[in-house]
Amino acid sequence: MSETETFPRPRLGEPFLLTPGPLTTAYEVKEAMLCDWGSWDGDFRAMTAEVNRRLLAMAGDSTGEFACVPMQGSGSFAVEAMLGTLVPKDGKVLVLANGAYGQRAAQTLRYLGRDHVVIDKGDYLPPLGTEVAAALDADPAISHVMAIHCETSSGILNPVEEISQEVYARGRKLLVDSMSAFGAIPIETGRIRYEAIVASANKCIEGVPGFGFVIARKSELHASQGNSHSLALDLHAQWQYMEQTGQWRYTPPTHVVAAFLKALEIHEAEGGVAGRGARYTANRDVMVGGMRALGFEALLSDKWLSPIIVTFFSPADPAFEFARFYDLMKAEGFVIYPGKLTVVDSFRIGCIGRMDTAVMRGVVDAAGRALSAMGVTDASPPARALEERAKLAA
Ligand SMILES: *Cc1c(COP(=O)(O)O)cnc(C)c1O
Repeated sequence: MSETETFPRPRLGEPFLLTPGPLTTAYEVKEAMLCDWGSWDGDFRAMTAEVNRRLLAMAGDSTGEFACVPMQGSGSFAVEAMLGTLVPKDGKVLVLANGAYGQRAAQTLRYLGRDHVVIDKGDYLPPLGTEVAAALDADPAISHVMAIHCETSSGILNPVEEISQEVYARGRKLLVDSMSAFGAIPIETGRIRYEAIVASANKCIEGVPGFGFVIARKSELHASQGNSHSLALDLHAQWQYMEQTGQWRYTPPTHVVAAFLKALEIHEAEGGVAGRGARYTANRDVMVGGMRALGFEALLSDKWLSPIIVTFFSPADPAFEFARFYDLMKAEGFVIYPGKLTVVDSFRIGCIGRMDTAVMRGVVDAAGRALSAMGVTDASPPARALEERAKLAA
């Protein structure tokens, strides 16, 4: 992406969404939704097959060992379908939590009545391979480990590769929520071992919301018949029906699928996962560099910073007020995201969606003007925030 090739503003004048999905999509993606499709029709079935084929290729499945099973609903529906179907009723899951999505996975297992234990690292500390190894050695009943690839609540990129090695060295199985990473951060089956990953249409592939998908080892899908607690979220049944008929089991989000196929074509034209990841990384570097120059501090050190979303501490200056900052940014065409840290005030800025470095420079300039408008002279965080961050280095 050249410096001069600025992505146009969204055509209806809506703001850029600096949020981790729904996010800003290409005009062509929205345009693809102007046609109605019959769910049973051959044209739509071909679209579903093409979506699945492209997603499997993105996951690096060259041997046909894996299947892609889309599931209606937001990403959490697909996570619930994966956990409820692939974990047997007598299984036990070790959940690696360091934020809202790890917590949600544990909550899902509570609803499902599946036995589980949680390693809770708090707001943002990474679960490490050594901790996973110790937990697995201590409890032979654990059959599965559930890891979050990029924990979107802080933006931390968790060390899934090292986690996977410890899991398989102990003969257990790994499931990965790669919702906010898949499509921009490599997680090919040949490089990282897992039984299944889950993601959704409206994150790094830059589609609109409406379905998620699970890419699972076929042997695991075969063995999962009868596990599901839910009729509608039975991944095995969805897979079998799709294999036999080429159709989704119940009404598919046809327009969303059409938009997603266009998004997949754009993703490929951009250079696939590598190209998409490079653009997001450039977005992050420009945005984080600019925000630091304004005096803001990021929660995470560069080692853990993902190219997906970045958490910044709110300035200690009493003139700073997040609601006002949000409104001032929005008035300039940029929608940012509140923070999710429990200990100190923070906010988040996403790097994903149809945006480039020129847009990110616009974000930084708008943030600078917002500080001036509020009369904030110093954007540095309270001492408490820096003490918190020091824990990461320890
Ligand atoms: C977005 C996301 C989900 C799913 O959230 P929904 O609101 O249900 O789409 C799950 N896990 C992670 C890490 C996410 O970023």
